[in-house]
Amino acid sequence: MAKYRGPVCRLCRREGEKLFLKGTRCMTEKCAIERRSYPPGQHGQGRPRNSDYSLQLREKQKLRRIYGLQECQFRGLFEKAERQSGVTGDALLRLLECRLDNVAYRLGFGASRKQARQIVSHGHLTMNGKKINVAGATVKTGDVIQVRERSRNLLSIQSSLEGVDGRGIPDWLELDKGTLKGTIRALPTKEQITLPVNEQMVVELYSR
Ligand code: SF4
Repeated sequence: MAKYRGPVCRLCRREGEKLFLKGTRCMTEKCAIERRSYPPGQHGQGRPRNSDYSLQLREKQKLRRIYGLQECQFRGLFEKAERQSGVTGDALLRLLECRLDNVAYRLGFGASRKQARQIVSHGHLTMNGKKINVAGATVKTGDVIQVRERSRNLLSIQSSLEGVDGRGIPDWLELDKGTLKGTIRALPTKEQITLPVNEQMVVELYSR
């Protein structure tokens, strides 16, 4: 499936809630959800569909859009989660959360996951001392993610770090703001991944 290049606020309006895809703008009154909280398009204010399939599809699309993945990437992670022991929905959330671009976002190196992905792919980070530019790399306990010395004064990173206090850093991560070094203290538990998504419905959709 082709990459979506349209307005991202439209995605939030489609899901009917804030997905926080645009960094600081999402916290302001300019947020499209604050102004037009109905789905986009000609039939946006029509009767909503409430079949099991459409509800499951919306949950899947919401989760996929939060992490900014294409369908094939998301499906690949789901299949990986299925092969893991334990509850598939929990494993899927953990795999999504442990992607390097998401970790960079959670640590405040990017104001949104999209910006954090760009920080990674432009080679501004190291993982365990080695330069890395693979946004989909998976982190594990004990890994150290750090902004490279020559990139520490980048305006985008500095302004993102100013915003991280507002949203907070999850307990499973630790940030040293002096050296811009983040450590994975433990893999996230389901309780630590607070997203407005019912992951069980995603599993049901793919199990059809
Ligand atoms: Fe979504 Fe952010 Fe746009 Fe609001 S400003 S609609 S939360 S992307």
